[in-house]
Amino acid sequence: MKKIAILGSTGSIGTQTLEIADANSDIQVVGLAAGNNTELLEKQIRKYSPRLAAVWSEEAAKDLRGRVSDLGVKILYGMDGLLEIAAMEEAEILVTAIVGMIGIRPTIAAIKAGKDIALANKETLVTAGHIIMPLAKERGVSILPVDSEHSAIFQSLKGEPETQIEKLLLTASGGPFRGRKKEELENVQVEDALKHPNWSMGRKITIDSSTLVNKGLEVIEARWLFDVSPDQIQVVVHPQSIIHSMVQFKDGGILAQLGTPDMKLPIQYALFYPDRRPMEGKRVDFYELGQLTFEPPDMESFPGLKLAYEALETGGSMPTVYNAANEKAVSLFLEKKISYLGITRLIGEAMNNHKLIVNPTVEEILQTQEESEETVCRLAGVDPIFREGEEKIQTGKGK
Ligand code: NDP
Repeated sequence: MKKIAILGSTGSIGTQTLEIADANSDIQVVGLAAGNNTELLEKQIRKYSPRLAAVWSEEAAKDLRGRVSDLGVKILYGMDGLLEIAAMEEAEILVTAIVGMIGIRPTIAAIKAGKDIALANKETLVTAGHIIMPLAKERGVSILPVDSEHSAIFQSLKGEPETQIEKLLLTASGGPFRGRKKEELENVQVEDALKHPNWSMGRKITIDSSTLVNKGLEVIEARWLFDVSPDQIQVVVHPQSIIHSMVQFKDGGILAQLGTPDMKLPIQYALFYPDRRPMEGKRVDFYELGQLTFEPPDMESFPGLKLAYEALETGGSMPTVYNAANEKAVSLFLEKKISYLGITRLIGEAMNNHKLIVNPTVEEILQTQEESEETVCRLAGVDPIFREGEEKIQTGKGK
């Protein structure tokens, strides 16, 4: 029996992880955490009978306790709830399917408790990779990538030492605005940016994909997962999203992982690694496909990717600024408080405003997050305090 806990069980990755659990009777779900979607979480608790479940706010916990008072599940809330589920004794693997830097502290807690991590929550590795990766090594736990690109690299590397890597070829669909120039992006609306051509995902990552910030975050994530330098990571735009990424080895040979765009494959691969389990679903039909195409990314029209390379080269706390400024700017865009181009403009300005910390601790990372969010709000001319009903990508700073 494989015992798993999921942080972010009501989201896109979380619900697909539960679909994998449905298809594999040897998975047991022992812990579930969500933000405030108590309705869906109640259904999940009734179906999977976890011992622990958590939501973010005290009110949501009260609501959930009322909903499941006939069951034996213990309901927790806030950061303490996430930490308790992350480290719960019976779980073998923690699936980090939560969105944003709030994942840092639970991921560290799980590693310290000896859990393997099926990592979807890229923001954690982007901002705290220098803490997470050495800690995982020290505790002998595996960080198993769920992001399709990193899973593709992980699969392509199977049996090959990382020292044989010449470069990683990270593929990108190019998002819904591929081919457009900067001036054509000025009037992009929230609804336009939420339409991804190939993947169905949560709101924040869908916006990130359209700005290429998601690819930027993935470049930084790849640096930590595979211990390569920034110049060993090349982004290749591949609009069909069939090749999920590739590894070029020192002899020039390239290995790639291909498949239809379906996140269930990388999720299942992470859960059962090194085994491959059967999976239903559409297969790639090369006759139907006809051709696969490739092009370079347009970093002038989509500066989000260029800024990620700059943040990675600078290192220290700069990737945190890149990520935190983006989290805040995306929230403001989703709330229609800033323009689409404002997202990457504000990231760049927040990075310019930042005083670098060379080797930040978790506290300094969270402090940098707070400062970057405030900078973005100040530059955007909005109140940094979120009001009732405002779209908030949760942070890791307490309850
Ligand atoms: P979603 O927005 O769909 O889901 C986010 C999940 O996190 C929800 O369950 C949400 O709960 C929960 N959550 C949010 N805030 C809190 C909180 N404070 N405490 C507890 N739970 C919280 O996101 P995705 O599934 O799209 O993405 C999750 C992560 O995976 C992101 O880091 C993303 O970059 C990464 N990823 C996603 C991919 C995808 O295909 N979707 C692909 C690769 C990586 P609630 O529903 O209650 O708000």
